[in-house]
Amino acid sequence: MQIVRLTGGSGVAIDTLPVPEPQAGQVLIRTAVSALCGSELSTYRGQGSTQGNPGHEAAGVVEKLGPDVASLQPGQRVGVSAISGCGTCLPCQQGQYTWCAQKAFFGSMHAEYFVIPALACHPLPDNLSWEVGALISGDGFGVPYHTSTKLTDPAIARVAVFGAGPIGQGQVLLQTHLGRQVIAVDLSARRREYALAWGAVLVLDPVQIEPVAAIREFTDGGAEACIEAAGKPATAKQCFQAVRTAGIVVFNGEQPAVELSPSEDFIRRDVWAVGSWYYHFSEFPRMLALHRAGAPVAKLITHHFPLSEASEAYRAMAAGETGKVLLHYS
Ligand SMILES: [Zn+2]
Ligand SMILES: [Zn+2]
Repeated sequence: MQIVRLTGGSGVAIDTLPVPEPQAGQVLIRTAVSALCGSELSTYRGQGSTQGNPGHEAAGVVEKLGPDVASLQPGQRVGVSAISGCGTCLPCQQGQYTWCAQKAFFGSMHAEYFVIPALACHPLPDNLSWEVGALISGDGFGVPYHTSTKLTDPAIARVAVFGAGPIGQGQVLLQTHLGRQVIAVDLSARRREYALAWGAVLVLDPVQIEPVAAIREFTDGGAEACIEAAGKPATAKQCFQAVRTAGIVVFNGEQPAVELSPSEDFIRRDVWAVGSWYYHFSEFPRMLALHRAGAPVAKLITHHFPLSEASEAYRAMAAGETGKVLLHYS
């Protein structure tokens, strides 16, 4: 089978490897589509991967069952969660694999075949496209959805999204769909255009306009919620400066340490801050329902490439030109 390998220094190779064998509890998936994630860029630009790739968003057909798998059938269409749990602890029983102490991450999904635990597979309805199936099974819509579960206060009318990369764009699209006014901040003109197209009422280029002052002015004192989706300490600080008194800051972007003041950033302004990581396996039906209720999930996909053009796919994403980028397999 063919499989993408990131060679480091923005290089992409396509290797030929044997089709993997599903172990106990696992299934082999024949990939239909896989999506690129911004979190792969550090590997792409940096050291690369010695084997395989960090791809972790995909949908496809169950090709073969490993020993002891009774929950799926060959030929079934599935989307996959890249994080799987032990299957027996309390969080796993509640479909919260990210909270399992023995959770495991599965990658190398930019390949014609990959293996994944059966309990990490979401059967897809026949009439659901591969594209939407991959997005609501992975980060593409999963992260924005999981974040939305932290922003349920009806007082939240304005949401500022710092960083309109693929995840930030999902936040713009979903928060707009949920009726909020969304402000998006990003260095890339193309990403600001996408944010406007997905419903943002204001987009800010932080090179041209100081975003904290602009957000505080537009919202008359600060947004009720700020989402940090750029993964930078500087934007994390800006979230606390742009959020309204008694507002909430959500951390999406992984990042190094950031210096915050308990007194200034939290106590004297009654500010909340929460983390939001990936999504809960059990949230899939609610994401599917949102899609069916008109959330325009597929809009998030702006670029399609065949596997043979994976190098161009990464280049476009790394250049900040894209929303979600999909690889297609024949
Ligand atoms: Zn990801
Ligand atoms: Zn568990």
